[in-house]
Amino acid sequence: MKLEGLALHRVGLRMRRSVGTSAGTHRERPVLFVQVVTDEGEGWGECGALAGGTPVDPPLERLWGDLTSGGADRLLVAARARGGRLPASSQVQSLFNADPAGQLASGAMEMALLDAELRSAGRSLTEHLGGSVNGAGVPVGAVVGIPPDHRLDLVLAAVDDLVEAGCRRVRLKIAPGWDVQPLAAVRRAHPGLALQADANGAYRWGATGVRDARRLVALDRFGLVCLEQPLPAPDLPSHAELAALLETPVCLDESLGSHRRLVDALRYGACEVACLKPARLGGIEAVRQAQALCLSSGVPAFVGGLFETGLGRAANAAAATLPGFTLAGDLTSPDEYLEVNPCPYPEVRGGRLHPPATPGVGSAPDPEVLDRYGLERVWIPYDG
Ligand code: MG
Repeated sequence: MKLEGLALHRVGLRMRRSVGTSAGTHRERPVLFVQVVTDEGEGWGECGALAGGTPVDPPLERLWGDLTSGGADRLLVAARARGGRLPASSQVQSLFNADPAGQLASGAMEMALLDAELRSAGRSLTEHLGGSVNGAGVPVGAVVGIPPDHRLDLVLAAVDDLVEAGCRRVRLKIAPGWDVQPLAAVRRAHPGLALQADANGAYRWGATGVRDARRLVALDRFGLVCLEQPLPAPDLPSHAELAALLETPVCLDESLGSHRRLVDALRYGACEVACLKPARLGGIEAVRQAQALCLSSGVPAFVGGLFETGLGRAANAAAATLPGFTLAGDLTSPDEYLEVNPCPYPEVRGGRLHPPATPGVGSAPDPEVLDRYGLERVWIPYDG
């Protein structure tokens, strides 16, 4: 495929309601789309960066700045070296730095190229990955944030709604002081629910964290699927100590920013369940390798979400068909959390969905929504 140019779109979306975590509250959800235009058609990619970032991921503004001020040109330089032909999508990650900003940029660029390749070849992303979907579809998990004013009734109502919709796994956001009470209440209301807790790295360990350690041990009685990212991301040795102490499996999310980190976490015994985010790891190819490593290591994994539109989430749904993803991923419909979802997404029925079977990733922004909510668009032509 010959490159004709790239368009970068920044779109001003918002969450339906704010989602509280121990690391901050998500309200605005601006999205950065990459559109690659070739002589054989186009492809679309979505960047996973959030408005305010996370403790380990840079904010979307930083990504926008990086890509519009030279970052996206890496693709043009690579095409120039090939006489105008695009590199294979599987090579995109090697064009970007192996740091959090580089991996998020790579994730968006790789998705756009892969979408163009697969559309041109007439193959769906699930076919390309070699994933398998049984007749019932891929199971869907969901996240419930920390509510305003710590209102327990809001958490219980949200979990009730999800269970009623057939959701296969519910993940409660927790923080020191907002942990035992909501988990006890949800467990009482739903004794058989696959329940997990996500602390986003908020607890302390060692001499200064004795109180936090007691709190975490107290969570063992709730029969959680796993306790996600209890301690700050860099600290793998302390996660390993905690994993040895708790009956509840320790899951890592923010700690798994690269394949190298996943290898280290598994070697330390710090990661008993893995939350793998394609956007954070650098893209679909990276997440395919990560889930294969988890599978061969006997570590259950699930696809983690970053409140994507239907495009990013369709890619995640296809990834979830890979055999290493043995737990339900964050695959609820974007209509549940975005005021406006510019990209179509498969219907979730009875807590399951079928990833798009159409060529490519199987979703793209609606041009009218892009016009209406678009904040900025930058066109970078390939000039040979
Ligand atoms: Mg998490």
